[in-house]
Amino acid sequence: MKKILTNENLFILANNKEVLEQAGIACIIKNEFIGGASGELPHFELWPELWVMRDEDFERAQSIVTEISDNGPIKEWACNFCQEKNADSFEYCWNCRNERSTSQP
Ligand SMILES: [Zn+2]
Repeated sequence: MKKILTNENLFILANNKEVLEQAGIACIIKNEFIGGASGELPHFELWPELWVMRDEDFERAQSIVTEISDNGPIKEWACNFCQEKNADSFEYCWNCRNERSTSQP
């Protein structure tokens, strides 16, 4: 298992994870519970990390991740409930699981 990405923005990691999984690369996010979601401050500073499960996928994953960051701003939508930003491909808010809605409140 290898660490592919570290970012304070869980949204970016979640987006990368989704693209990697679509490419058939198994990966997990560590430390994802740390962030503003719970309202509690973490005891120590730790950024969420994206890990590739199989070492043999690492090089391919790295080129995909580089490609994603080179493509500039990601298409995103803001959750109506918690205002968190989500990847365009997400049907539910990663933060509060609120269903995506195109209608404004
Ligand atoms: Zn939300």
